[in-house]
Amino acid sequence: MADSINKTPALRVSQLDASELDSEVVHIIKAQLNKIFRYHKSNVLVTYDPEVTAIIKSLIWRFTIYVHDSTIGQQILNLKYSGTTQQTSWMTGRQKILYGLILIFCPWLRERADSLINFVGLSQYQLQIRKFLRWLDISLKLAAVVNFLVFLRGGLYQTIAERVLGIQAMFPNRQGIRQVSFEYMTRELLWHGFSEFLFFTLPLINFQRVKNFVRRHVLPRHEDPAQDGLRVMECAVCEDVPTNPQEIGCPHLFCYYCIQSNFKADPNFSCPGCQMNIPTVDSIRPYRAVIS
Ligand SMILES: [Zn+2]
Ligand SMILES: [Zn+2]
Repeated sequence: MADSINKTPALRVSQLDASELDSEVVHIIKAQLNKIFRYHKSNVLVTYDPEVTAIIKSLIWRFTIYVHDSTIGQQILNLKYSGTTQQTSWMTGRQKILYGLILIFCPWLRERADSLINFVGLSQYQLQIRKFLRWLDISLKLAAVVNFLVFLRGGLYQTIAERVLGIQAMFPNRQGIRQVSFEYMTRELLWHGFSEFLFFTLPLINFQRVKNFVRRHVLPRHEDPAQDGLRVMECAVCEDVPTNPQEIGCPHLFCYYCIQSNFKADPNFSCPGCQMNIPTVDSIRPYRAVIS
């Protein structure tokens, strides 16, 4: 087996993809946990969020880095951590444990620093400790930025933890020629752009108005029983028994909703039966049956 190993330095993009996948895995597991506890009264997950995250991360660490020398994302992308210059070995046990501590324990400590200070009984030094922690935080962030720039230049040690421990992601096997097809991506981008355009333009079109225009000018007029001056007892818009009947001065009746919504959407709306125009909103009035 040993002679088949042929370490080659990992590509920057693979390393970045791997770390992206790793954080995604933690998010997915946390989302599942949240779903389980959704109907739980006292929200345990919120109170113990740092601990829950630490437990999830340590479980992941136990079954990935500890066993396989690589994180989940790295396994998917066929990467492995190498801690030595020897061709046949990967991370040492010490590196695995220290890496786990940095990944799991440090973020937890950062979240729980305040309660720990009180717990240990160092409340009188609280201000100084807080100040120190803030400076530590800022300098670590700065160092992370510098480290990342160096990583982009050299392609080694994506995080400070990796640099400190001297572990670097490697391809365990010789890589074939990478073939990337951008055909699908272009198609996807095209469709994405098209749908964005549609979503932007569709709300700008007044469909009610278009519909009324087509009805007035394109569709054939059908027989109108109101031509003889008889009152038609159905809504001229929806052709159903009118709800809260309204009239506009012609022999037709309308539902309150039908006539108001059409007139609001299209001020040029005319009666679909006899093409009578509605001059103002006051012309729409409730229909009172004349009992003779
Ligand atoms: Zn109607
Ligand atoms: Zn009419």
